[in-house]
Order: sequence, then C-alpha cells, then structure tokens
Amino acid sequence: MGDEIEFDDLGPLKVIHVHEPSVGLKAILVVDNVATGPSIGGLRMAADVSVAECARLARAMTLKNAAARLPHGGGKSVMFGDPKMTRDEKEARIRAFACSLRHEHNYIFGPDMGTDEGCMAWVNDEIGRCVGLPREQGGIPLDEIGATGWGVAHAAQVAIEYCHFDMHGARVVIQGFGAVGMHAARFLSERGAILVGASDSRGAVYDEGGLGVAELIALKTAGKSVIDSPSGEKLERDAVIDMECEIWVPAARPDVINAGNVERLKAKLVVQGANIPVTEEAENTLHERNVLSIPDFIANAGGVICGAMEFHGATEGAAMNAIAEKITRNTREVLEASRRDGKTPRAAAVELANRRVRRAMDNRRWSLF
Ligand code: NAD
Repeated sequence: MGDEIEFDDLGPLKVIHVHEPSVGLKAILVVDNVATGPSIGGLRMAADVSVAECARLARAMTLKNAAARLPHGGGKSVMFGDPKMTRDEKEARIRAFACSLRHEHNYIFGPDMGTDEGCMAWVNDEIGRCVGLPREQGGIPLDEIGATGWGVAHAAQVAIEYCHFDMHGARVVIQGFGAVGMHAARFLSERGAILVGASDSRGAVYDEGGLGVAELIALKTAGKSVIDSPSGEKLERDAVIDMECEIWVPAARPDVINAGNVERLKAKLVVQGANIPVTEEAENTLHERNVLSIPDFIANAGGVICGAMEFHGATEGAAMNAIAEKITRNTREVLEASRRDGKTPRAAAVELANRRVRRAMDNRRWSLF
C-alpha cells in the first residue's frame, strides 16, 4: 500500500508519527474526525502497517461510529512490529506509545489485530483512556460474549424482511469461524437458521443437514479447526463460496468476494461481519443480481458499540441491548433508503453516515477540531 493520505472536508484532523528508539517504538495515530466526540478506534500492531492504511481505517471508524450514533468520532493507531514479539518488548512499546499520546484527549485506544485486553490494561495504567479492558477492570469482553456476532444476527433478522425467505430453516454459511463468525452462527441458529457450512484458515466443512454449532465452537475454543469436526464433508477453504445457502457471512479477511469469484456466490443475503470483505465492483454485481448485501460498518458495529458502552460505564446487558437497538434501526433505515432511491445498500449507508457527521460538524465552531 502506498503512503499517501487523502485529505478532504471530513478529515483527517491530525496525523501523529511517534518514534522512541529506546524501546524500538515506531507508530502512527490518525484522528480523522471528532465532530461527534473524541474518537474511538483500535490499536493495530503488524509489521507492514502504513500511514495510508491507518488513515483509511480511521475514516472507516468515523463512518461506523457516526452511523451508530455514538458520541465518538473516528480514529485509529498503528504500531510497526511483529505482534508475536516477547511480552516484555510489546509492553514497553505499548506503554511508551500510550505515554506519548497522553495529551491526545481526542483519541481513545481500543484493541485490534495484534493487540488485546491485556494491552489495553497497560494503556489504562499509563493514561486511563481506552476501551476493551479486562473484566476485572470494568471491561466487557466483547469477543467472548460475541458482541459483533450479536449485531450481525440482528442485521440479518431485519434484512430477511427484504428477502423472500424465513429465518426458520434458512441455511447459513460462515467464512471465518472466529470471534465474529462463531457467535454470528450461534445467534442465527438460536433464531432457527441452520449452519450448513463453515471455514477457517485451514479448510471448510459442509453438511446440508446442519452442522453442530456448539461442537464447532468447542473445537475452535480448544485451538483446533472446523476441519477437525468428526461430522460433515471436509473441503478446501474457499469451497464456502460455492455452498448453496440463504445467508452468507464473511467474517475473515478483506476482499474475499471480488470480481473474480462473485458469480460463484449462491446466497440470497450477505451480511458483512468482516471489514471490507466484498470489493466495490462485486458489491455492485450483487446488487444487480438482487442479492442483498449489508455493508460492514452497519452490520459489524457491535464491537465498537460495546466498547463505547464500556467507556461510559454500562453493564454487559445494556451494551447488548444498545447493539440490538442501533443495528436493527440502522439496517432498516439503510435498506429503506436503498429501495427508495434505487442505490446499493453501501451507497445508502455512506450517505446516512456522512449526513450524521456533517450535521454534528454544523454545530461546531471549527469544522474539524
Ligand atoms: P478472529 O481471528 O477471531 O477470526 C478470524 C477467523 O478467520 C479465524 O478462525 C481464521 O482461521 C479465519 N480465517 C483467516 N483467513 C481465512 C480465510 N482466508 N478463509 C477462511 N477463514 C479464514 O477474528 P475476528 O475478531 O472474528 O475478526 C474477523 C473479521 O471481522 C476481521 O476482518 C475483523 O477486522 C472484523 N471485525 C471484528 C470485530 C470484532 O469485534 N472482533 C468487529 C468488527 C469487525
């Protein structure tokens, strides 16, 4: 990815590069837009992060948080390095990064790829400004309770009203049976849907009569793969794209549905659990084929809603209720606008989020700070 940032009238407000050689720290913070409140966004740790990637992710958080009507803007931070470095090295870098941003009150840290609740405990110890803390410190363990999968299931529930099938007996396929995917499967099956296919990085499993959701979750929690399941047909990883189903949930990697494979997808509804799992071109193709596709930042906002609720001192139950309420309402609003204006759901969702950010900006003296 190139290192160019695009600036427009929404942001970014600030780009901060941090360098502290004594602990090998090189990191970047992008605060995109704070019109709706101090930004919340994850701290990503990877060897190949870039300022452009950080800015793109920060903008995605602006739209996601505004769409969810959270009192928070969008930001993101990235740290260069292998997340599998020793615990001591990681702790030193994260503590140093948090300290360097102690006066950046417009940014609230959260966990992301390469960081977890333990990392947030170090940030909290240094500056007391983060979400995603361990339970003992008032945190709500969003991956353990399945906050994002809960939101995905609610998005699906509303979207079905715009499709021609019932939840009861609907066949579900999950690509990426991880924190998001397994809980989406659990909440959908509790509503009467049947999980027929699932994959992870090692392969896929299929059973037209239905897979055991609890058994697959137990396998994954024990560090195994869905292909270690004693039942079901074992297939190669991307076989999930060809599986016939009503609901297809991408919950693994970006761009997994693209111009090269979108024609293979046989689902009636795609609910995007992962971030940008469908390319723009493929999303347009799905729209032309009347396959409903619920955009990522509407369907997978459960994690950040949970984080924001934690930040404001809410209980786990209140956080789950907020996720259900916000995602149900937003999915309906997006699908109504999409139907009314003949736009793709993504175009309608971007318009909705933009409108909410700009309305907040109108109430401020300066547009961005
Ligand atoms: P995770 O690491 O818990 O799970 C990812 C799963 O995908 C793993 O089981 C992995 O084996 C599998 N996988 C990896 N590559 C694959 C491939 N090519 N094909 C099939 N499976 C593959 O991660 P997660 O927290 O569940 O996040 C999944 C996606 O959702 C990511 O894009 C993440 O950014 C996004 N997301 C997560 C949350 C959250 O609350 N965790 C919130 C919003 C968005």
